[in-house]
Parts: sequence; structure tokens; C-alpha cells
Amino acid sequence: MYDYDLLVVGSANADLVVGVERRPGAGETVLGGDLAVHPGGKGANQAVAAARLGARTALLARVGDDGHGRLLLDSLRSAGVDTSAVLAGGAPTGVALITVDPSGDNSIVVSPGANARLTEGDVQAAAGVLGAARVVSAQLEIPLETVSAVVRALPEGTRFVLNPSPPRPLPAEVLAACDPLVVNEHEARVLLGDGESGDDPAGWARGLLALGPRSVVVTLGAEGALVCDASGVRAVPSLPVDAVDTTGAGDAFTAALAWRLGAGGELPEAAAYAARVGAAAVTRRGAQESYPTAAEVPPPAA
Ligand code: ADP
Repeated sequence: MYDYDLLVVGSANADLVVGVERRPGAGETVLGGDLAVHPGGKGANQAVAAARLGARTALLARVGDDGHGRLLLDSLRSAGVDTSAVLAGGAPTGVALITVDPSGDNSIVVSPGANARLTEGDVQAAAGVLGAARVVSAQLEIPLETVSAVVRALPEGTRFVLNPSPPRPLPAEVLAACDPLVVNEHEARVLLGDGESGDDPAGWARGLLALGPRSVVVTLGAEGALVCDASGVRAVPSLPVDAVDTTGAGDAFTAALAWRLGAGGELPEAAAYAARVGAAAVTRRGAQESYPTAAEVPPPAA
């Protein structure tokens, strides 16, 4: 018996957002509106999304021993995430410094802070939590060596889901463990190598599968997603919705997918559920604030 449906290994950031009339140039100071602080980071987003849906979810992450770290822990706990594997200290909590102009264009500086200090040793020390999870999911806002350590520490039979964001080339041992590798268009192009990817998403899915993962999911925003494994490529429809803010939609999609796969769903069926969770998430502002409960996930289109 597993204690957790899903263990997320990844980042937790405070997003510090200021609205400005015009984003500053070099050497320039501009005055902005009031600061808004939102809990974020792909790892924390995924954990909150899964827990909100009802998955028994834990997060392995590192935050600073500071106010932003406490804000993140509060938001994780209020969504129902088990935070016993969230480590504190060693560096300030990761932050994203975001300025947004009236047209919605933004400039972002990320300070990974404590996320960069989540080490192989931390993964080894968390062997008990890793062994208690049916599915483990990760992203790349923590060191790649740490993700490799997760793959090496996975018990036999534990499913591994990776969203390689921000994208970079992956070692063969990580690729081979992914079931699935979940990418958006940008991530697909980077992993396939610029200039060689073409414009056909089904071609990306097949090209990515040839790199070694057991299965691949390509998310296509309002167009839904493609799933691909040895049996071929299948399209997963999206749900037409009024999109208000797509921030964090991919994180909600991946969390929902990982959870449904762990519950025994086949890839197309789990991706179809995840697409409905992603669609619900884009109808509300923010990332974690926008994630639906299971009761709020729209039913499949007739
Ligand atoms: P990312 O946020 O990583 O760029 P996508 O934009 O592909 O990822 O979104 C992830 C998933 O969320 C999509 O596969 C889709 O299911 C859902 N989604 C995103 N944008 C929309 C939209 N405008 N309408 C309906 N569903 C959407």
C-alpha cells in the first residue's frame, strides 16, 4: 500500500509581481503599483494542483528559512499537500521578480535560491517518501543532478513523470525513466534540437519517443494534447473555454495526468482528464489560485 498517490520533486518560488506603465530600460527607475506576492514554482504548483483534485500528495523541495518559505508552506498545507519532505534553510527561498506592463508583456528575473540547493543527498535522505509514492513527478527548476538522483532512487514499479521545464538536454538514464515525458511546443523544439523539429506536433511526439522515454505527451494549449507510445500517436481534444490567464496550466495538466495514471488510467484517458483540468485552470487568474477541485473539473464533451 502506498501512502501517497503522487510525490512531486521540484521547485517552490515566491512570485513577486509589480504592474508598471512601462518596463524599465538599463539604468532606469520606474514607479509601479503595489507588490503582489503569489505562491509559485513548478513543483509547488503541481503539488497544489494534485492535492486540490483529491490526490494524496507530498512535495520534496527546499525553501529558505524566511517569510517567503512560510508563505509557500502555508499555501501547500491549505491545499492539503503533505509538507513533511519540504526542507528549509541553506539559502533564501527562490523568487521570481516579475514586472508586467499594461499590455500584459512581462520581464522576469528568477533567483533559484533554495531550489538550487536541493541536492542528491536530500533525495537519498528522502528514500522513505520516495518508496511511499505510487507516482513521482519532477520538472527542471531544480538541479538536473538531483532529478537524475530521483530516477536512480525510484523503487521498482514506481511510475516517473517528467516535465522538462525549463528545457535542456537530458541524460539517457532520465529519458529512459519517463512514462511519460510531458512537453509543450517550446520544450519539444528545444529537446529535439533547433531547426530539426519541423512544424508537425505528431512528428515531435514520435521524435521525442525515439529519444528513449516509454511514452510522450505534447501539450498544445487551446488545441489540447497528443499522446504517443509504442502503439502510435493519438490526439486528445481540449475543451473550448474562455481563457483568462494560462499561467500554470501546464503544471495543472501534468499533475492531473500523473495522478490519473497512478490510479490505473490509460494514457489517452488520463490525458483527456488532464486537459479538462488544464482548461478549468485557464478560466481563472493566477497559477495555484486557479486550480480546480475535482467537483469543478468540467465533464467530457458529449
Ligand atoms: P504550458 O502552460 O506548459 O505552455 P499548454 O499551454 O500547452 O502548456 O497548456 C497545457 C494544457 O492546458 C493544454 O494541453 C490544454 O489541455 C490546457 N489549456 C491550455 N490553454 C488552454 C485554452 N486556451 N483552452 C483550453 N485548454 C487549454
